[in-house]
Amino acid sequence: MTQKSFLLSAEGVNKSFDGFKAINDLNFYLESGELRTVIGPNGAGKTTFLDLITGRTQADTGTIEFEGRHNLKEMSEHEIYRLGIGRKFQTPTVYTDHSVTENLILSLAGSRGVFSSLFFRLGSDQKDRIDEILKTINLTEHRDRKAGTLAHGQKQWLEIGMLLAQEAKLLLVDEPAAGMTDEETARTGELLLSLAGKHTIVVIEHDMVFVRQISQGRKVTVLHQGSVLCEGPVDSVQSDPKVIEVYLGRKHAR
Ligand code: ADP
Ligand code: MG
Repeated sequence: MTQKSFLLSAEGVNKSFDGFKAINDLNFYLESGELRTVIGPNGAGKTTFLDLITGRTQADTGTIEFEGRHNLKEMSEHEIYRLGIGRKFQTPTVYTDHSVTENLILSLAGSRGVFSSLFFRLGSDQKDRIDEILKTINLTEHRDRKAGTLAHGQKQWLEIGMLLAQEAKLLLVDEPAAGMTDEETARTGELLLSLAGKHTIVVIEHDMVFVRQISQGRKVTVLHQGSVLCEGPVDSVQSDPKVIEVYLGRKHAR
């Protein structure tokens, strides 16, 4: 089978924790430029799947390939990061005592460690890049503030900006709307939509209003018990009886 056109392909992936199958014969294919939303009930294996992609945990069996040639299963977390796979965790992990701009500088691709990159004079290309990212993430007027003083939503946007500064080819974003106000959530959706096409993004999310906002005309994947339960346009996924049964029907019972 040729998989050259996929940026990421996972086939027959399994991962057990103490005999519990968190990922169960998972197959997942992602094309370059996609903005893919992955939904599924708690415990479905969504975060574990990201852990497997980023090398935080190792799959027991199966293959995970990036750009049709890099076997992620054989690589360390650091090597995978260097390939251009960036991850945003649920809780923001910004450097709270550094300014917004400094946080972006620290993430610039090719930057050489925390201290030297802060004291290193930026070239004009790098300055332009930082300005462009600040604009994209809507933090231009907050550029000199310490990241620790930002609102929760702004911290999340900064972290997405840090992935952009890293020049991540694949952005993995785990539950960005968690803890956000409705307005912050909507702006996060706009931000991700503005990145789609230029970047390839996987978003894990529970908030169905947000999922609908970012997935119009795109594919949504539903994970359940470590496998893909169904995949397709958001409307057909939301009206699929299997999905209603395992996920949407229990949404309020969480
Ligand atoms: P989701 O993100 O879809 O809510 P997770 O991937 O976090 O689900 O978890 C899937 C299942 O795997 C859960 O039952 C969880 O308890 C289990 N699990 C995840 N990581 C570990 C781990 N490091 N050790 C043991 N069990 C784990
Ligand atoms: Mg999770």
